[in-house]
Amino acid sequence: MSSDLPVFISRKEAKSPFFVGVDLGGTNAKIGIVDDNGHTLSYVSMPTEVEKGPVDATRRMSDAILSAIRQAGLTHEEVVRVGLGSPGTMDIPAGKLVKPGNFPGWENFGIRDTLSEFCAIPVSFENDANAAAFGEYWTGSAKEFNSILLFTLGTGVGCGLVIAGRTLVGENSHGGECGHNIVDPSPHARMCNCGLRGHLEAYASATGVARRTFDLLEAHIPTSLLDRVNVETMTTLDKRKLPKMVYEEAKAGDQLSLEIIRETAWWLAIGTVTLLHTVDPQCVLLGGAMTFGGKGDPIGEMFLETFTDEIKKRTFPVLAERIVIKFAELGGHAGYLGAAGVARADYRIKGFANPLT
Ligand SMILES: [Zn+2]
Repeated sequence: MSSDLPVFISRKEAKSPFFVGVDLGGTNAKIGIVDDNGHTLSYVSMPTEVEKGPVDATRRMSDAILSAIRQAGLTHEEVVRVGLGSPGTMDIPAGKLVKPGNFPGWENFGIRDTLSEFCAIPVSFENDANAAAFGEYWTGSAKEFNSILLFTLGTGVGCGLVIAGRTLVGENSHGGECGHNIVDPSPHARMCNCGLRGHLEAYASATGVARRTFDLLEAHIPTSLLDRVNVETMTTLDKRKLPKMVYEEAKAGDQLSLEIIRETAWWLAIGTVTLLHTVDPQCVLLGGAMTFGGKGDPIGEMFLETFTDEIKKRTFPVLAERIVIKFAELGGHAGYLGAAGVARADYRIKGFANPLT
């Protein structure tokens, strides 16, 4: 995932109105001031410092927003709405975090309205994975499409859905949690990070790849990976490095590593086919840190091609023929850009009618 700075445009080149996009993460909050065309005027990143509590963090987030507005050369009045993308679980209509896994002590915090009161700008609230999908849809690699599905492959399998130009929120703010779709219904299926068995994330996330790889190493299947690790003494931290090692050894021609990557694409395809037959999107994007080198890398391209082939074998012919499958392109910027895009979409519908929602 890219941690580079975004491409900036000047105030002169920008088109009003202006929006703020916030991508709240467990380590950092990324904040960008974005114009009506999805271009960034200024950008700041601040440490979340979860342990200081939600009110303190929200106040610092508000200060960072106001500072980013000044950096962009804008007045407060020119910025019409903030979009806040946050990890779940959450209650989007109520503007609350419910039980956010990486934010102990932030349970049931009304983050949307608190942020809005601190910075005196209306705030739209969105799930972070859906915000990232909205970013790719609005200004990234899926901008020519109306309906898209984005998988963000990292520690988990994040999934975001944009359908006919809006994110899929659902009735309980759990829409688009497709990383937890079941791909293995057997009683001994792998355990997911969420504590339930057989979910896509248990197989196709970095955690899943690490566990699958470790099992193969324990079985002493010949591979150059065994030259790099000691299976008997591996710590949890060592295991986290396995997906990267699998990629590196695959690049060097190791057959088992190549097979692990092909099998990851296969699991991901199994999870995706169900979605294609449910949502019928125009485009599926793969993003996140675990794309095995991604676009232009022979291993990344092999991963994408295997994923595509396995999908096309299992879908209705029209879907197989028309679906576009490619890599996401916004990297670590998708979240704040998409959050700003969600704010823009809400602004166009709601305007100033209800300043706190
Ligand atoms: Zn799960």
